Amino acid sequence: MASNAYRNGTSSHKGTIKPLAASNSSNGKSSSSKSRLPPSSNHSPGSAPLRRSNSAGGSDGVPGRVRVAVRLRPRNAEECVADADFADCVELQPELKRLKLRKNNWDSETYEFDEVLTEFASQKRVYEVVAKPVVESVLDGYNGTVMAYGQTGTGKTFTLGRLGEEDTSARGIMVRSLEEILANVSPETDSVSVSYLQLYMETIQDLLDPANDNISIVEDPKTGDVSLPGATHVEIRDEQNFLELLTIGEAHRIAANTKLNTESSRSHAILMVHVKRSVLSAEDAIPSETDKSSHFAKLPKPLVRKSKLVLVDLAGSERVHKSGSEGHMLEEAKSINLSLSALGKCINALAENSAHVPVRDSKLTRLLKDSFGGTARTSLIVTIGPSPRHRGETSSTILFGQRAMKVENMLRIKEEFDYKSLSRRLEIQLDKLIAENERQQKVFDDEVERINLEAQNRISEVERNFADALEKERLKCQMEYMESVKKLEEKMIETQRKNGCDGFMKDKSNGEGPGFSVVEDIAEVKKMLEKEIHMRKEAEEEVNKLKSQLRQCTDSGEGGDSEILKLQQALADEVHKKKKLEEETIVLRSQLLQLTFEADQMRRCLGRSGSTNGYGGLESPMSQVRDSLNGHKTPVAALFEQVGLQKILALLDSEDVNVRIHAVKVVANLAAEEANQERIVEAGGLTSLLMLLRNYEDETIRRVVAGAIANLAMNEANQELIMIQGGISLLSMTASDAEDPQTLRMVAGAIANLCGNEKLQVKLRSEGGIKALLGMVRCGHPDVLSQVARGIANFAKCESRASANGIRSGRSVLINDGALPWIVQNANNDSAPIRRHIELALCHLAQHEVNAKDMITGGALWELVRISRDCSREDIRSLAQRTLNLSPVFRAEIRRLRIEL
Ligand code: ADP
Ligand code: MG
Repeated sequence: MASNAYRNGTSSHKGTIKPLAASNSSNGKSSSSKSRLPPSSNHSPGSAPLRRSNSAGGSDGVPGRVRVAVRLRPRNAEECVADADFADCVELQPELKRLKLRKNNWDSETYEFDEVLTEFASQKRVYEVVAKPVVESVLDGYNGTVMAYGQTGTGKTFTLGRLGEEDTSARGIMVRSLEEILANVSPETDSVSVSYLQLYMETIQDLLDPANDNISIVEDPKTGDVSLPGATHVEIRDEQNFLELLTIGEAHRIAANTKLNTESSRSHAILMVHVKRSVLSAEDAIPSETDKSSHFAKLPKPLVRKSKLVLVDLAGSERVHKSGSEGHMLEEAKSINLSLSALGKCINALAENSAHVPVRDSKLTRLLKDSFGGTARTSLIVTIGPSPRHRGETSSTILFGQRAMKVENMLRIKEEFDYKSLSRRLEIQLDKLIAENERQQKVFDDEVERINLEAQNRISEVERNFADALEKERLKCQMEYMESVKKLEEKMIETQRKNGCDGFMKDKSNGEGPGFSVVEDIAEVKKMLEKEIHMRKEAEEEVNKLKSQLRQCTDSGEGGDSEILKLQQALADEVHKKKKLEEETIVLRSQLLQLTFEADQMRRCLGRSGSTNGYGGLESPMSQVRDSLNGHKTPVAALFEQVGLQKILALLDSEDVNVRIHAVKVVANLAAEEANQERIVEAGGLTSLLMLLRNYEDETIRRVVAGAIANLAMNEANQELIMIQGGISLLSMTASDAEDPQTLRMVAGAIANLCGNEKLQVKLRSEGGIKALLGMVRCGHPDVLSQVARGIANFAKCESRASANGIRSGRSVLINDGALPWIVQNANNDSAPIRRHIELALCHLAQHEVNAKDMITGGALWELVRISRDCSREDIRSLAQRTLNLSPVFRAEIRRLRIEL
């Protein structure tokens, strides 16, 4: 595959050097000319000026030829011995960057390289001339490749891969490159990661993860970029970290080769260093908040550079060479190192500017697609040995290097817009703007409030001023008016006085006036009056004007007035509601107490029902109520405390009938308590109750009112008050109107109580009380009858007492009013209470001799005899006996009838 066309050497005896680039010249380039790579090696990464990105496929890359250096290995121990008598096969002229390859003792060929490195060249120097420019380009955002090519044992691994752990000066290009990269990236914004691979027999193995032994190459269909997504990427933070990784990789390489029964010289080692850096573009800018000239000002554009440094330690080149010369089967050689021969073919094609470059023939060429004929900056170091025994290998290596020097790359920066970073920055900017906006809004609001306040102050000041001015004007006008009136009056008096005098004088002097005329006076007065009227008009106009101005000024205040009116209205409503609520509260409390009371009463009645005896019948219903309250003052006391008697009584006048009923019930219950009776009457309760009885025909109210009055009527002092206030006639009226037995029972009970008062006997009867009482027997209900009987008994007792005391005389009112037949009829009533009361009444009536006759004719004697014999109550029985024995009329009749007592 070597071709003369690429041989740039010529016979030295011709004394001329054929520049390698006979063909280079045709490209207009000198092989010795420095690379025209755009990035300056002096640029520090941070300050590197940015070039326009062309990662999007722009064609504005810059040309950059593959640079090739040759390195000669010193003679090793074996060579020192074996070749002791022979000269080296090469002679180096490093200052001329030339290499002479001896053909024989008298003939040699000269080649020019970009760098010629002698056996004395230090590792540091090798790095600086071969790799450093590439590393700097990578830091600038370009892809870069450094590759070593040469026969096995010529120092490829020595040049690239030495770790130099014991002797740092021995460190190879890999370690030095990483050291430089790490020193120049910023840990905050940049990142560095590596993959370490081995390519053997067209299989890519991961040296950082040996299990991963068949990694595939992925090609971006758009950009053509190749990548190894399956390879392990390890982020590198420091050099030590990297050294460890390389050691691990090397150990895996040895292990893998042992397993495959091969040697490292037959495989390619590829170290890929991925550098990602964030930078800001100074040229293209995006909007920023700092520029006040536009809504959005310019911000440096965030960019991200993703470059890759590929360091390739190739397999020994002798394999390709020997495949033919040593008679190896071509196929075997191919299978051993297809990649290396494919690389040679590609480089040939590129050097010849051939239309077709067989990149796809091998994995190596696919991986190095960007390194040769692509966008990367590439440096190749070809290593040779000095031994004349390997002259053929050396020659072929030199020719490979020479051809590679003709490969022209088009360098392009690997830079793209950093959307993530931009988005982050825009978010921050947006937050700032929002905060600023909020701050300004607050300032604005404060300002509006301040201006409002100021305006209000001014309005009120103007209003005040106007009011003052108006008042002053009014006073002034009033004063002027008063003065004018006063003057006019004076004038008039004066005129009248003069007129009177003139008249008198006229009479006397017969019209002789000393130049003073009444007409003139009148005219003057008229004029003054007109003037006054005019002035007044003016003043009025002035006042009107001021008034209208004031109206205008106060217009704005009217809203406030209406607001106040509304508030007042609302307040009034609230007061009304509150009052209602208070009323309802009182009612509810009363109801609660009422219910408590009723429940209690019910419970007590039930409790007593078992033990009721005949005596119970003699008690009034209200006294039952009273009894039930004994020992249960708590609810009543609580009611007084909580609600207040006045408030309860006030509710008797409530418009709500339910409220009234409840109030009456409460009062009735209170009245059952003797201690309360006086207080209720004092507080006007009696009057209110009587009023109710007078004004309402509601049955319930009447019943409850009557009950309340009945309770109050238990008290002697109240009995008189009831009479004085016309209570008896009201009760009589109710007695005749009502149908409900309970109402009648209450009314009868009330009258029965009154019947027990001696002082009221006459009045009670004269006001129809007795008639009313007797009239209620029509109802026939035993409860009513019992009360009627009690009333009769009370009344009869008082009558007999009054008669005994000589206060009254004559027949009993009861007999007069025709009660006797009913009394006789019910004297033996089945109901025990009725019977007892009537028995007592009969006894009382019989006390007085004047009644005896009527009683005998009315059949009462028989009843008395029965009582004296059969009455179960001993006191009544003996009273009846005593009465019958003491009365001569009865005694005579008994005797007459031969009744045995
Ligand atoms: P290759 O990788 O090309 O097969 P090596 O790097 O393994 O060759 O080198 C073979 C031997 O030569 C090693 O022992 C190495 O130390 C030595 N050697 C290579 N180059 C140099 C050099 N420039 N100076 C001193 N020793 C070298
Ligand atoms: Mg090696």
